[in-house]
Amino acid sequence: MPASTSDGGRDIVLVGGGHSHIIVLREIGLRALAGARLTLISSAARTPYSGMLPGYVAGHYDFDQVHVDLPRLASFAAARFIADEVTAIDRAARLVQCRSGRTLPWDLLSIDVGSTPRVDLAASAAAHVVPVKPIGSFNQRWLALVERARRIAAIGGAAPPSLTIAVVGGGAAGVELLLAIQYRLQHEFARLRADPARLRCHLLTRDDDILPTHAPRVR
Ligand SMILES: Cc1cc2nc3c(=O)[nH]c(=O)nc-3n(C[C@H](O)[C@H](O)[C@H](O)COP(=O)(O)OP(=O)(O)OC[C@H]3O[C@@H](n4cnc5c(N)ncnc54)[C@H](O)[C@@H]3O)c2cc1C
Repeated sequence: MPASTSDGGRDIVLVGGGHSHIIVLREIGLRALAGARLTLISSAARTPYSGMLPGYVAGHYDFDQVHVDLPRLASFAAARFIADEVTAIDRAARLVQCRSGRTLPWDLLSIDVGSTPRVDLAASAAAHVVPVKPIGSFNQRWLALVERARRIAAIGGAAPPSLTIAVVGGGAAGVELLLAIQYRLQHEFARLRADPARLRCHLLTRDDDILPTHAPRVR
């Protein structure tokens, strides 16, 4: 039987704090929602606005400037915020199961959890690949990469090691990200008085050109 709130309203559950749900919550906050209980479940409490992610990587913005505070946004929309990961959905019983063991009922369910690349499918990729997604945990991976670059830059001697970064994907995100990484790491090398030429950046794409959906001038 479909669950409903104690006052007879509908239980609307949003799973994931991705772009679409951020906009939904903002719109509900501006208009107010009657007769429903709104719940946001997200594994991350702070989610980056990906349009600003390259600017963060380049060092133009700090963490707070590019991250949306999901509990605060939920409160603006009069929604409950639950920090948890949804692990299963029972469509017949209309329940979501969370990693913590918690179970929540829903009348309307919306899923916006982004994508997770399968780096385990490529041999030894786990040791070398830094996936941008899931976006909620990208910051930890990026900071670890900056630290690694600093350690390499700090090595002196007659034949110091170089660092090669390859970004896979010639679309807007890949191009922006590569330029941002190059800009930031070149600055890190220069700050440590290391030759920025020891940093090499490559963009890998299966197309003949980068930015295939953009105008020739942009390319
Ligand atoms: C570098 C870069 C730049 C980009 N720039 C732009 C741009 O300028 N404009 C544009 O339109 N697009 C841009 N994009 C694309 C944009 O990021 C994606 O289209 C967008 O992030 C997709 O949002 P999403 O909601 O699917 O998921 P995501 O943004 O990946 O968010 C998923 C959320 O769900 C949560 N979650 C995941 N699994 C669970 C679970 N099981 N239970 C609960 N919560 C969960 C996560 O913690 C996360 O908060 C860019 C992408 C990148 C990588």
